[in-house]
Amino acid sequence: MELEQMYEQLGISKRVLEFGWETEKKLKERFEKIDQTAEYNQMKVIHAMQKAQVSEIHFAATTGYGYNDLGRDVLEQVYANTFFGEDALVRPQLMSGTHALCVALSGNLRPGDELLSPVGKPYDTLEEVIGIRDSVGSLKEYGVTYRQVDLLPDGSFDYEGIKHAIHEKTKLVTIQRSKGYDTRPTLSVEKIGELIAFIKQQKPDVICMVDNCYGEFVERTEPTQVGADLMVGSLIKNPGGGLAPIGGYIVGRKDCVERASFRLSAPGLGKEIGASLGLNQSLFQGLFLAPTVVAGALKGAIFAANIYEQLGFPVVPNGTESRHDIIQAVTLKTPEAVIAFCQGIQAAAPVDSYVAPEPWEMPGYDAPVIMAAGAFVQGSSIELSADGPMKEPYAVYFQGGLTWYHAKLGILMSLQKLADKGIVRV
Ligand SMILES: *Cc1c(COP(=O)(O)O)cnc(C)c1O
Repeated sequence: MELEQMYEQLGISKRVLEFGWETEKKLKERFEKIDQTAEYNQMKVIHAMQKAQVSEIHFAATTGYGYNDLGRDVLEQVYANTFFGEDALVRPQLMSGTHALCVALSGNLRPGDELLSPVGKPYDTLEEVIGIRDSVGSLKEYGVTYRQVDLLPDGSFDYEGIKHAIHEKTKLVTIQRSKGYDTRPTLSVEKIGELIAFIKQQKPDVICMVDNCYGEFVERTEPTQVGADLMVGSLIKNPGGGLAPIGGYIVGRKDCVERASFRLSAPGLGKEIGASLGLNQSLFQGLFLAPTVVAGALKGAIFAANIYEQLGFPVVPNGTESRHDIIQAVTLKTPEAVIAFCQGIQAAAPVDSYVAPEPWEMPGYDAPVIMAAGAFVQGSSIELSADGPMKEPYAVYFQGGLTWYHAKLGILMSLQKLADKGIVRV
């Protein structure tokens, strides 16, 4: 069977396929650059593993308290090596990105301290962690205040505003690298470095934390290399490489990581406890695969940007911009288009391709959200997935793809659904 017929069998028409091929042809050079970054980061991870002397014994399971879990300790060393931190907390007991961020924040903040976000509103789920939206158990309830300085209209830092927002109570600054569910630009590692340098100039002892979700391995450097004291992310996004079935990481300065560990387990116990339950091998192997998986996801994001830009939809980042995370936002302008797009992503999945997603109320989000994911790991967004909050401007956030070919199929299928509904003409 010819390749065209393989696609036809999956439901992709000849017109949509040809539109895709034309677009892909123009992206050759960019894809080469992505492969070069993946090669660099692959060497980085292998070096980190060799330096920590990863061995087969580290894949063994522990249970109960998990005292002397060699694999867990070496995995944390590998994360510290990879991301140039002094120490790391990498645990299946960090249940999600939000949980890892919550542990890092509440471990390092005390009553009377102030938390500052100099890059505007943080990710939706953090609003309740911080208490921006009143919530039981928020940092606000524990007497931690919050201040925010928005980005300027052109997306740059409001240095004057930031300077005025920092005072004696400012203890921790949280910097979100990725745009998340927003249409602001994602921050490059270089930009994050400039911001941290400015903040440390105002107040050298302030802890700078970066929410690195979706950013890992997109560039050759990470925020911990440009002054971040703490860097936090989810293992069911980039660094888990699709194999991690659960987990989060906190990497950085030894004292900051340690304070987080006393919050995750208990004061006095810290990193000494926490069984890995046989998950170590997946966490090691996922990290090993992560640079190439991220490369595939990036190609998918750039492909999507170019497809939808040609059809007249606003896309962030645009088709030619440099990339600092794996998320692609496409403003589809109507609820119908958002639903059709997500149903296309779902229909291209290896798992649950036959179900059609619908918008739904989700805990932590303030509007109904439609989520498409036919994933091996529930909610994994390093796997091909799309989410769209059902509110203006009706944008979808598309990310992931364990292989470039699957990401490509997903985008073609989304386009097919939009064409079938008469929303676009190709
Ligand atoms: C995904 C994400 C989070 C939260 O992670 P969950 O695993 O969904 O809880 C936080 N910040 C950013 C920027 C994210 O992309």
